[in-house]
Amino acid sequence: MTDIPLLKSRLPGLRIEDHPTLVRQKSRDFFWYSPVLKRQLDHLTADCVIFVRTIEDVVEALAACYALGVPVTPRGAGTGNYGQAMPLAGGAILDLSGMDKVLSIAPGRIVAEAGAVIADIDRRCQAQSGQELRLHPSTAKTATIGGFVAGGSGGVGSISWGGLRDFGNIIRLKVVTMEAEPRLLDLQGEDLHKVSHAYGTNGIIVECEMPLAPAYDWIDVIVGFDTLGAAAAFANNLGEADGILKKQLAVVAAPAAHDCFNRHRRWLPRDKHVACAMVAPQGYDAFLTLARRDKGAQLLFSSHDLPAPERKGLPEIYELGWNHTTLRALKVDPAITYLQTLYPFPNQLALVDKLHALFGDEVVAHLEFVRFDGRITCFGLPLVRFTTEARLDEIVRIHEEAGVPVFNPHRYTLEEGGMKQTDAAQLAFKREADPKGLLNPGKMIAWDDPGYDYASGRTYLFKGMQQAA
Ligand code: FAD
Repeated sequence: MTDIPLLKSRLPGLRIEDHPTLVRQKSRDFFWYSPVLKRQLDHLTADCVIFVRTIEDVVEALAACYALGVPVTPRGAGTGNYGQAMPLAGGAILDLSGMDKVLSIAPGRIVAEAGAVIADIDRRCQAQSGQELRLHPSTAKTATIGGFVAGGSGGVGSISWGGLRDFGNIIRLKVVTMEAEPRLLDLQGEDLHKVSHAYGTNGIIVECEMPLAPAYDWIDVIVGFDTLGAAAAFANNLGEADGILKKQLAVVAAPAAHDCFNRHRRWLPRDKHVACAMVAPQGYDAFLTLARRDKGAQLLFSSHDLPAPERKGLPEIYELGWNHTTLRALKVDPAITYLQTLYPFPNQLALVDKLHALFGDEVVAHLEFVRFDGRITCFGLPLVRFTTEARLDEIVRIHEEAGVPVFNPHRYTLEEGGMKQTDAAQLAFKREADPKGLLNPGKMIAWDDPGYDYASGRTYLFKGMQQAA
């Protein structure tokens, strides 16, 4: 247990809270999307929350926690889905949401503090310079930019720009290390990979410099089809139409769109598989032309043609995509969970058809079209009717055997949720920047158990995890 009076005495200038209700609330994220993580992590809570507002606050907090051996789990808005922001070994939550300033906006780039909310950044950029972030998670209205870089991967905008892993989609990060005397490092180029998507296990991101794109009044459209294959083929064509600027492009199989998108339901016949997109106004005519050429396509909804009163209360199309699709499905049927898969180019359409035919209603297709390694293809975030953990593992195995890799959202470690192997750069940086292993313990297997066998088929269990009371 953390000696909270001692910690407070070392940090007299910082707000430190240990009220159990607040600490529990700040110890949770959206892990409960996964029945597996819900079982494993539900009982976890930190000992206290440290609120920071400046880089100096972060340096002070980390120095004190280092001296006292207190584990530190950074937190932006806590919208991650894999328990990334949940403290497996107690200690302190470092709440960065108070570091929310936009520091500068220039042509093509913005610098913001890590706790700045993504939609606020976009609002400022749009108003001041007619620009916006290239990509953001569908949780833009609540998620922080630092949390996105540390815990996310891509999302809205990825159809044009790819993901955070792609060169150029992060420009520079300022990071504080967890040492006796924490250092402030500026990371660029090759070094960005050390801390991006590392769940805050090897440094606290305090400032992000991100690239911008022109902002448009994006037009939301939904196109209906009789078969999933036709919807996926249309989305693939639209994705490849480089002359039509797009910000979002997803496909949802029938009847999920009708059943789950309640505010849009009146436009969505239950038997239609739909493609949902955001199209730039100057490309709208071209988009309509493409849709007219496709004999199976039926334009069901367009924000362009909608009178303002009818638009009121409708979520933006991107809030029907990514894990918002899962959220909407969960509200209709609490037994739903999901997977994250990749349909590799160039066989994505054949693989979508194959997997869809294999599972029927048990796994309902939800595809997010993206640019991946320069090619248009799709991720799957299928809606899975959960029965048992064994069956979920079997569904994962069937996907992988079919040549569809799964980034398992039912695992809390970096490796099991990702490439199922050690990331040497992130591990080496942890040795340097967090020598006592106090940052977000238990999330990097390579640190805790260097000999871990990823092929064992076992789920990794962090030995230091607090036991359920
Ligand atoms: P948190 O959840 O607070 O943190 C995420 C991880 O980063 C944690 O490991 C935390 O410890 C660490 N961290 C946070 N801040 C820092 C920091 N400053 N320095 C170091 N480490 C830090 N993700 C996507 O990528 N794309 C999507 O489209 C998407 N859609 C989503 C839809 C829904 C409905 C939900 C619930 C989640 C979705 N997510 C998506 C996941 C999540 O919302 C995003 O990744 C989001 O960007 C996380 O930001 P956050 O501020 O909530 O981070």
